[in-house]
Amino acid sequence: MAEAMRPLSLKREGDGLKIEWSDGVVTFVAWRTLRNNCPCASCNEERSKPPDPFRVLTPQEVAAGPPAPVAMKPIGHYAYQIRWNDGHDTGIYTLELLRSLSEAIEQPPA
Ligand SMILES: [Zn+2]
Repeated sequence: MAEAMRPLSLKREGDGLKIEWSDGVVTFVAWRTLRNNCPCASCNEERSKPPDPFRVLTPQEVAAGPPAPVAMKPIGHYAYQIRWNDGHDTGIYTLELLRSLSEAIEQPPA
């Protein structure tokens, strides 16, 4: 087991989040990916239902536009709570989850 990874820096970049990790890898993840993978109980339940082909956007979703965070608050040393522009703020994103949703865009120098 490698030592626990932690972010050295988190930066808003374009429509997503760029993270530099302590192991030298730099990753990027789109806000939409983070929002769609919100780990809270109600989103988990929503995702476990069969897809509804007639689902339409709620008025809040339409008003808010594409997902974007309005606040990102560290929870201890292991997670971030993200408040979204649609008002949703119950998702706690662990560092592990952030890393697994992100794609590596730079590798550490060999
Ligand atoms: Zn959620």
